[in-house]
This record gives sequence, structure tokens and C-alpha cells, in this order.
Amino acid sequence: MHRFFVPQLFGDEMTITGVDAKHISKVLRMTIGDELQIVSDDGISALGKISFIDAECVKVRDFEIIAESHEPRVKITLAQGLAKGEKMEFIIQKAVELGATSVVPVAMEHSVVRLDGPKADKKVERWQKIAESAAKQSKRDIIPEVQSVMSVKEMLAANDCATKIIAYECEDQTSLKSALKNAIEQDKINDLLLIIGPEGGISESELELARSAGAVPVSLGRRILRAETAGLVAMSAIFYETGDLGEY
Ligand code: SAM
Repeated sequence: MHRFFVPQLFGDEMTITGVDAKHISKVLRMTIGDELQIVSDDGISALGKISFIDAECVKVRDFEIIAESHEPRVKITLAQGLAKGEKMEFIIQKAVELGATSVVPVAMEHSVVRLDGPKADKKVERWQKIAESAAKQSKRDIIPEVQSVMSVKEMLAANDCATKIIAYECEDQTSLKSALKNAIEQDKINDLLLIIGPEGGISESELELARSAGAVPVSLGRRILRAETAGLVAMSAIFYETGDLGEY
């Protein structure tokens, strides 16, 4: 079942325009009476029937609200050290599929990639489109936000989550499991900042900055994971631990 995000508050008739309307009419070749899912700006997911369609505009009516949420209870903001080339696109796509609420691209000391000004804005625009298409494909109820490229300091200030975890490749005392256990015991698990370094790793000064903002350095095991692997492993483990991958 195809799902489309409609930038309007939920109502009896929802109107899809732009590239989505063209896709529905010309690529999917849907017609009047066909069913599709919409998600409104106020977060309502519903199954409706096409009542009007042309290449510019598709109107949908006769809705059945989709009650169960597709969103995880734990809100994870993934702060990802800028990684080279297509890796950021891969990381953002997989993070959205897994259930991230937001992604912050972080310009870190050991990031090979240097992005600033218009170049950074252009990249964020492309990454946001990747997030939207991954949200449609994975039937999310929201389109996760890709925040602007930030320094570690800016990222920490802008994402003051209840629990902050920094996956640190040199950490050998605290496991992700124990950090999550503490957060659950303190009832601080539902709003989590997960910081992952770039290919070059996390510098001592970045680690100290994160610590001073209350982040807990954790190990993801004795093997060194690639930048594009680490965040996905950590998110999968977190969602497994909290039952957001299903509890049955
Ligand atoms: N340059 C680093 C090195 O050779 O040790 C590796 C950095 S790793 C490619 C990229 C990021 O993934 C790290 O900064 C960290 O955030 C995370 N990461 C990878 N393996 C990890 C592990 N075993 N424990 C904790 N974090 C890990």
C-alpha cells in the first residue's frame, strides 16, 4: 500500500500535488477508487480512496483512520559525524527505516568531508529528500528532520536530550547495554541523543565536550565498526532493548 505525506491538516478530503501527484498518476497509474495511505501534517495516518486524479492533483476521500502508530516510543536523534560520499545518504536512509526521529550531520575534527555554507545547505536539502523517501517506503508516521550541519558544540546545545550516548571506539568500561539499563531505570530512555563518529573517529576534545554535556561514552563491542555501521547497530540494539522492534 503506497503512503504519501500531505502538508495539510487532516480533513474529509486531502489533496496531493507536485511530484507525488505525478508519481501516482503517471508512474503508479492509479485511478479513481484506488486506495492509498496518507499522513497529514497533524500526524494522522489514514487509508482513503482516490476521488479525483490528474498529473497535477490527486484528491483522496472516504478515510479509515490507521490507529496503530508506526513510530517507536523511544525518540532517537542520531548525531552522525560527517562521513565520506554516499555513506551519509546510506546512513540517513537506514536510520529513517529503523525509526530515527531526527538526524544531525556533525562536522567533526576527524571528518574527511568539509561542508560549509551553500554546499552544506545543498547537501542537507538532498539528505532531507532521502529521509522523506525512506519515510514513505518504511511507512513512518513522520518525516524525520535532517538538521543543518553543526559542530559538536552546536549539536549538543541544539539537542539537549534526556539521555546522551556517545559511541566511543576506545571505550572499554561501559557497554551500551549498561548505559541503556541506567537510562531505563531513571526513566530517561524516551528521548535519546546517539553520537557516532566519522571514519577518523572521535577526538579527545570532542569526547570531553560530549561528556561535559552529560553524554555517556559506550563501547559497541571489541570490533571497530565502520562509521556507516555503528549508528545502525546501536539503534537496532536500542530499539530491541526497548521493545520497539516488536515485543511479541
Ligand atoms: N578511526 C577509529 C579507529 O580506527 O579506531 C574508528 C572510527 S569508527 C570507523 C567510526 C565511529 O563508529 C567511531 O567514532 C564510533 O563512534 C563508532 N564505533 C565504531 N566501532 C565502535 C566500537 N567498537 N565501540 C564504540 N563505538 C564504535
